[in-house]
Amino acid sequence: MRKASHLVLLLVTSLLVMAFISEVSPQLPQGDPTPGASGVGDPYFPELGNGGYDAQHYTLDIDVNMETNVIVSTVTMQARATQFLSSFNLDFAGFDILSVLVDGNPADFERNLRELVITPTAPIGDEALFETQIIYTGVPGRNVDLARSPFAGGWTRYNLGVYVASEPDGASLWYPVNDHPSDKATYTIIITVAKPYSVAANGTLLGIADEGEQRTYTWQSRDPIASYLVTVNISYFERHDDTVVEGVPIRNYFPNVNYRRGQEVFSDQADMMMLFNDAFSAYPFEAYGSVVANTSLPFALETQTLSLYGNNILQGGTGASITIAHEMVHAWFGDSVSPATWRDIWLNEGFATYGSALWLEQYIGVDETERILNEWYDAMQNRPLIIGDPGAQNLFASPVYYKGAWTLHALRLRLGDDTFFNILHSYQGQYANSNAEIADFIAIAEEVSGQDLGTFFDAWLYQPNIPPRP
Ligand SMILES: [Zn+2]
Repeated sequence: MRKASHLVLLLVTSLLVMAFISEVSPQLPQGDPTPGASGVGDPYFPELGNGGYDAQHYTLDIDVNMETNVIVSTVTMQARATQFLSSFNLDFAGFDILSVLVDGNPADFERNLRELVITPTAPIGDEALFETQIIYTGVPGRNVDLARSPFAGGWTRYNLGVYVASEPDGASLWYPVNDHPSDKATYTIIITVAKPYSVAANGTLLGIADEGEQRTYTWQSRDPIASYLVTVNISYFERHDDTVVEGVPIRNYFPNVNYRRGQEVFSDQADMMMLFNDAFSAYPFEAYGSVVANTSLPFALETQTLSLYGNNILQGGTGASITIAHEMVHAWFGDSVSPATWRDIWLNEGFATYGSALWLEQYIGVDETERILNEWYDAMQNRPLIIGDPGAQNLFASPVYYKGAWTLHALRLRLGDDTFFNILHSYQGQYANSNAEIADFIAIAEEVSGQDLGTFFDAWLYQPNIPPRP
């Protein structure tokens, strides 16, 4: 959700003998309505997202047939127009669209790859709230050739269930959406599936309704979510309610066959959250937890309030602990403070990687953590990459993570712990539930430290080779 500015313009006019205070009502649309842009102008993916409106809330109401893999979905988007709109786009690929309504009236639509162009019967006034409802059906996963990474396939069926991973742009492979992190929105996710499957999604489980052989799970998120962080997981899960940390419930979904092992491997999440609450600021969302898919996955993903793992995480050990800490840190850096554009990926991955090292200091001690940090540094010596602008092909390249973590480690060594953690707190305070670009972080670092850090950040973020070890 973009920060909406509800401006009531107060015109105060002083004349010689009189003062007027007049309230100016919103201007009626002037001139002709125009189409919303087909992208938000992301430097790496210019066609992602759309212009002309600001999505506020999505309701995803999905009936899932686990035998045929067909889904029937009714997606409703409430949005506010940001221009006088003749038509607007959503990002959406695949499926058969059965119906498109805008404010209850049938609307024309056209499709071109990932762009769904909707033309309502009447134009939409600037700043008007409007509701779009799209009903569609089909088998998800038929358009994964459009996916840019193994964790961008969107809704993915595996032998024992379904997971959803969409970074950076897989959301539009399973529901129509303004698919860019700059337009976050809140969500209601309603999934109907046959027993005995269970469903884990973002936010809070409001209820489970029994209807014969089917169950309907309703999940709601109070906090806005970037589209790539929306997730639905269906499998034979057992829910584990862990400790409540400073008012935040931690609930996990483990495969029922791995329930005990899941509890063991994820037993440190409460301690991690307490550490990060102190290091960064209070955990930013209504709940946290992890879902372990009933299959092995080559990644883990920080899906908001419910991080996603493959069952290979259950091998445990220090490697698993680093990954679990990394995904939790993303709640602060990535999920709450999201990148303004995909060029700002260092603000996600550098921070999550360094955050996992902060956990290691507590978990295995400072000396052992130093050894691991040095291993990361050594591995980066022959991996030149400008991590402040890595390019679309290198969003998830290892220097973004490890050289990215070292950038923060070097900043901490230069400024000292007090100033370094004050910077992280200020950055969270200013950009929580919003978006930031790298320049925003640098500005806060300079303001809090009182130092000119231009040369420092240029060396670490905007030169290909890693600077000398500090
Ligand atoms: Zn990450």
